[in-house]
Amino acid sequence: MMKYDVVVIGSGFGGLACALLLSKAGCRVLVLEAHWQPGGCMQSYQRKGHTFDTGLHYVGGLDDGETLHDVFGQLGLLRLPWHRMDVEGTDQITIDGRTFCLAQGFDRFVDVLATDFPHQRQALRTYVGMLQGPDQDPSVNAWQWLDETFSDKLLIDVLSGSCLKTELRRESLPLLAFAHSQKSYIQSSWRLRGDSGMIVRSMVNDIRHMGGDVVCRAEVKELIEQDGRIVAAMCDNGERYEGRLFISDIHPAQTFALVKESKVLKNIFRRRMTMLENTYGMYTFSLVLKPHSLPYFNHNKFVYEGGSVWDEDTTKVMLSCRVPEEDSDDATLLDLLTPCDKDPMTLAETVIPGLRDMVSEQYVSTPRTWQRFTHTPDGSAYGIRKDCRQSLLTMLSPRTPLSNLLLTGQNVMLHGLEGVAMTARQTCDIIMRNHTEYLRI
Ligand SMILES: Cc1cc2nc3c(=O)[nH]c(=O)nc-3n(C[C@H](O)[C@H](O)[C@H](O)COP(=O)(O)OP(=O)(O)OC[C@H]3O[C@@H](n4cnc5c(N)ncnc54)[C@H](O)[C@@H]3O)c2cc1C
Repeated sequence: MMKYDVVVIGSGFGGLACALLLSKAGCRVLVLEAHWQPGGCMQSYQRKGHTFDTGLHYVGGLDDGETLHDVFGQLGLLRLPWHRMDVEGTDQITIDGRTFCLAQGFDRFVDVLATDFPHQRQALRTYVGMLQGPDQDPSVNAWQWLDETFSDKLLIDVLSGSCLKTELRRESLPLLAFAHSQKSYIQSSWRLRGDSGMIVRSMVNDIRHMGGDVVCRAEVKELIEQDGRIVAAMCDNGERYEGRLFISDIHPAQTFALVKESKVLKNIFRRRMTMLENTYGMYTFSLVLKPHSLPYFNHNKFVYEGGSVWDEDTTKVMLSCRVPEEDSDDATLLDLLTPCDKDPMTLAETVIPGLRDMVSEQYVSTPRTWQRFTHTPDGSAYGIRKDCRQSLLTMLSPRTPLSNLLLTGQNVMLHGLEGVAMTARQTCDIIMRNHTEYLRI
């Protein structure tokens, strides 16, 4: 029986990132994935010759010196065909019929918004200063900070308008999480020319190339503890996989439920993990458009009607297109994303009139679909709900009470590719700093 240095549970972006970084550091790694294909929220799927993305529409901060540049370089992802989005308006926010642009580059970002909100130029400078400064204390409340900084409430809605990639909650969202969902996209914003499966295939190939294994259809059903350490993962394929160190890329409540018999995990700790609240789930309407019906648009459109961007019952939708093939200017695949369980087409048509007549095929995924294909509790889109009032309880450390079990992924600290990449790096740093203890090398 092969004993691995590191066994990773779950092949989401965080699991693959840890596996790749540790492979590069010389570890023999194994990734165990429940689903038939790797990638978790990054997986793509095919219908009638089209490949659809699930949880990736754009990323930020890939240019030299920006947030994701180094880690994407380490992960071999800078070589993928990234396509820069409109610098003057990457995210176009339409609120009750008025459209505003969020631009790339901090100075341009301020200048573009200051044309609509000249009286808030100084506050906008304070805002970008905050984003470029050191990380915020996780106990600072995002809404409160914005409310104290901006006198114009419409501008707060505009700044938060690209936040269908974060769950906005006035009472609980930490400024740290809000800032991380904004900063890298203002630095620079990119779409892939191709599907998000390219990222997954690139990482899996590199892990295998360095001697690691990625095994699908291998759902971990139990983690076996001996003397305060995990020694093996038991899978539903009947295999037992042994390792020196285990990293879990799945929800902490699910992770600790896998340790059925433990001398280390206290009931109160287990209860605390199961009581963590999760963010809402998303509905995605993946549309195939009729040929030449809609020119490609190189930005995201976010549309809101009937209330503040921060209100749960405001109707909202994000529209994002796939970059077309080199020889075409037409949009062929368009996603409509919304946390609401109502058909978003009517709202989408306020920014693309006649859209429903352009559609030739439509595929819908709901939070239940996410639950089924990524095992995420409640089909939650962004993992555990981070709460500035209980930051230590909801923004977890990668360390666990079990000495050789660490956590990674969007449930731990921050979500999105940026947050998950940062967390993976932190998980791996902890391991490399303590490799004698963790790997007993
Ligand atoms: C609709 C939507 C749109 C998004 N758009 C963007 C975007 O445009 N840009 C961006 O940066 N981020 C985006 N995100 C967020 C981003 O996709 C996620 O934050 C990130 O991919 C999460 O990665 P993860 O490593 O935490 O794990 P996950 O992707 O949750 O993967 C966990 C994996 O573990 C597997 N698993 C679960 N249980 C077991 C078990 N017992 N044994 C073995 N395997 C198991 C699952 O099958 C899954 O493959 C989006 C998310 C959603 C939902």
